[in-house]
Amino acid sequence: MGENNNTIVLPGNITVRELAGLLAASPIQVIKTLMTNGVMANINQMIDFDTAAIVASELGFEAVMEQMVEEEQKEEGALAGWKKEIEKEDPKNLVKRPPVVTILGHVDHGKTTLLDAIRHTDVASGEAGGITQHIAAYQVEHKGQLITFLDTPGHAAFTAMRARGAQGADIVILVVAANDGVMPQTKEAAAHAKAAQVPIIVALNKIDRPDANPDFVKKQLADIGLVPEDYDGNTMVIPVSAKQKLGIEDLLEAIILVADSAEILGNPKGRKLGSVIEAELDKAKGVITTLLVQNGTLEMGDVVVAGTALGKIKAMFDYKGKQIRTAGPSTPVAVMGLNDVPTAGDVYEVVPSEKDARVKVDALRNARIVNLQAPKATLEDIFKLIKEGEARELNLIIKADVQGSLEPIVTSLQDLNKGTIKINILHATTGNISESDILLASASQAVVIGFNVTADTAARRLAETEGVSIRLYTIIYRLIEDVEKALKGMLAPEFREEIIGQAVVQVVFKIGKVGNIAGCRVTSGEIRRNAKMRVTRNSQVIHEGEVGSLKHERDDVKEVRQGFDCGIALKNFTDYTAGDTLISYTIEKVGALKSGLLE
Ligand code: GDP
Repeated sequence: MGENNNTIVLPGNITVRELAGLLAASPIQVIKTLMTNGVMANINQMIDFDTAAIVASELGFEAVMEQMVEEEQKEEGALAGWKKEIEKEDPKNLVKRPPVVTILGHVDHGKTTLLDAIRHTDVASGEAGGITQHIAAYQVEHKGQLITFLDTPGHAAFTAMRARGAQGADIVILVVAANDGVMPQTKEAAAHAKAAQVPIIVALNKIDRPDANPDFVKKQLADIGLVPEDYDGNTMVIPVSAKQKLGIEDLLEAIILVADSAEILGNPKGRKLGSVIEAELDKAKGVITTLLVQNGTLEMGDVVVAGTALGKIKAMFDYKGKQIRTAGPSTPVAVMGLNDVPTAGDVYEVVPSEKDARVKVDALRNARIVNLQAPKATLEDIFKLIKEGEARELNLIIKADVQGSLEPIVTSLQDLNKGTIKINILHATTGNISESDILLASASQAVVIGFNVTADTAARRLAETEGVSIRLYTIIYRLIEDVEKALKGMLAPEFREEIIGQAVVQVVFKIGKVGNIAGCRVTSGEIRRNAKMRVTRNSQVIHEGEVGSLKHERDDVKEVRQGFDCGIALKNFTDYTAGDTLISYTIEKVGALKSGLLE
């Protein structure tokens, strides 16, 4: 990598054990280094950044404070949210771009067959080009309009992209076999698409089969919230046979219809960015990366940063393998020239020079180190967003052992849905917590709740790296109680004034330098030195502020109780007269904010 090979990102505080782990040193070594610097610490002790930085430097690392990297990360996040980028574009530069479509659904319901059938509607495809690799996306033309299909079926890929901030698809085709109906992965796929707020078109596949039962499947679809149009809903359900290539034109027609109403836009002249669909290392050609251009026009010679890979585009091919020089929004392209294999779902962007590219990559690498330790989608973050008014929802994924417990949980949670913070159940199903659940949670900033289930090892590991909160319960009311508490904690803080006492001004002393002092008698409660003070005259508030000094006899005191006399000087106010009432009060938070309830 670059010059910053030995840079290490450290948080404000870290335990000796964690520091040792990051420095790839033994805890004993760290403790010894601390001792030689006069710091005695045990393995679980927290040390601050400065101390940790000294140890790091003695062990050959340059420490960087996490916060600084987080700033970079924020920028990275802004970049990832290309939709936001597009929002930033001047609307007059935005033009319609082809919809990007992905196909999801239960295994064996015909996703691959359907993708092939659609690909073959395009007679022009199959021409030999300069590259023989299979490109993981293709385009077809329907009535003069292009549609881009992502050729990587499966919601894990779809959500992985989203988890990295790249909105992969504009439209989801949910394939449901007419003979098999709605299955667990159908529900899961629907949940993923809904969470991404991507419109869903159902392809009711295998209608050629004698055991196909379209009406039954439509009822099942209605049950999972995808109410077909002929049931007065607004989900398009298109009967198809991928195998016999029936209904494919209708499906393309439906895509165009949905695309027309969904405002799918991009700026061909705007900031150049998009996402990585797939990447591989070819022994002869080097790294071949399939990119989906999402904004701007990608050109030969552009310097690209894709995740932690970078390089100048040496060659670019369209999905047919034909060499091209430019690619506008929604175009999938295979490019050569990157120095490393990026991960599918990584965001790419074009930067002015390779030097800029290196800076970006180093920042991202550091950010990823932080990411490993610093959760990014914890309830705390969600809470922060809610507090800042950025979010008004608590997204939940519920997994339970049996349908019989799932239903009461979902119903009770929905009953909590009365306050200002909305509970959004993105996905509720039976079974253990899987990687796919964690991906969905990470992409949607959701908390995963399990009832009488466990999280499998892969899911746990992913939750750790993605910073997703998993909560496991065995008692329903505890689960509900926790969510309820979290909601309360998350409600916008309410402040209440607590009056603690009153005093009446008897006489005003004019004391040279000090100014006016109100000689008072405390008439109720007590007057506190560190509380707030309001001055009223004839029931009108004439001043609000803080106490400068509070004296009883000659002593400075913290409080003076009812029945006693005192001398009060307020900050920034001296205009008291006999008879004024001074009210001592505090501001209390109602329903103390606790963000860690589900942590
Ligand atoms: P995927 O797992 O969702 O990608 O499903 P595939 O595309 O691999 O299809 C699974 C099986 O269903 C294969 O044996 C296909 O030949 C078959 N299949 C797919 N579409 C149809 C169809 O429209 N009709 C019939 N009869 N079989 C189909």
